[in-house]
Amino acid sequence: MRIVTVVGARPQFIKAAAVSRVIRTAYARQVDEVLVHTGQHYDDNMSQVFFDELDIPRPGYNLSISGGGHGAMTGRMLEALEEVLQRERPHWVLVYGDTNSTLAAALAAAKLHIPVAHVEAGLRSFNMRMPEEVNRVLADRVSALLLCPTATAVANLAAEGIREGVRQVGDVMYDVSLYYRERARGGSDALRRLGLRERGYVLATCHRAENTDDPRRLQAIAQALGEIAQGTPLVLPLHPRTRKLLAERGWLDLLAGARLVDPLAFLDMVALEQGAAAIVTDSGGVQKEAFFYGVPCVTMRDETEWVETVEAGANRLVGASRQAIVAAVRDALGGAGVASSAQPYGDGHAAERVVEHLLDEARPSTQ
Ligand code: UDP
Repeated sequence: MRIVTVVGARPQFIKAAAVSRVIRTAYARQVDEVLVHTGQHYDDNMSQVFFDELDIPRPGYNLSISGGGHGAMTGRMLEALEEVLQRERPHWVLVYGDTNSTLAAALAAAKLHIPVAHVEAGLRSFNMRMPEEVNRVLADRVSALLLCPTATAVANLAAEGIREGVRQVGDVMYDVSLYYRERARGGSDALRRLGLRERGYVLATCHRAENTDDPRRLQAIAQALGEIAQGTPLVLPLHPRTRKLLAERGWLDLLAGARLVDPLAFLDMVALEQGAAAIVTDSGGVQKEAFFYGVPCVTMRDETEWVETVEAGANRLVGASRQAIVAAVRDALGGAGVASSAQPYGDGHAAERVVEHLLDEARPSTQ
């Protein structure tokens, strides 16, 4: 069976690594995976470092498409992916998450009548102003196999009338966290390098368009993180887009007390997450990793797709108000840990289930 996997952005490299490893270790004889990198994330520290560290095979195609508006980027990807898919004629196109690469690949495949399998199907923020929500709703609509991480995701699809092809497999990010949690402890010297003490610092990330592209929200976030950094060491690995926007507006100064670093390699990030006293973020992946590692999380968004982390009392949604962010992080620092016995994200074998469903539910090749 041939699968074309399409990835383009940092979180997709991490999720695809888990499934790709299962294919290479347990199904190498049954499954031929062709990896396509759209080029959406291209900086070494947003892309190549993940291929190296997570042992992801070299992509068969690198389309080198990045930048421009959402429409231009998605359009160029659509055109290039159509060519790739016509040449490869796979049994499945496998897509992850909610980026422009996800949407372009799903659409290109659907138009060629190649079945699409979507990992992270059914996640919803119910906020259609988010580019991610548009991408995931549309990708789900054209997918034949909807591989859901949670029961919530299955219920979201049912509410939209989508029941066929829906499979709850668990969250591949949870698989990843189990695989790397010990490896990161031994394999990263990030705490030492940054002069940090275990449980003695806050880890922050910010990159969602709803925060970076709204000047009021971005300023409030920069002020809040700067204020927190006055009292507790705060490390902020800065997404290239966030750094650019902060620099353009002259707001990097608001973060004068924080440790601003370039985007981190994965093992360093996992080590810093595990050692943090609290995490403050707008990232989907980082919210869950905080939950997996029992670190209290404050989420600078108005809604989350990962509602289970909030229901478990491990994550607080505070939007982008300066006071609310500062108060919630102080609370998190003052409270006990948040180890939760809830297991909403599966049993750590989601990636195996993804491959098993692909094998079981493949139609004869269209070749
Ligand atoms: N990540 C990383 N280095 C960083 C920031 C994040 O390795 O400097 C990892 C993080 O641990 C998580 C993933 O990237 O696994 C999350 O990706 P991102 O926040 O870009 O996207 P989202 O999850 O919000 O879609």
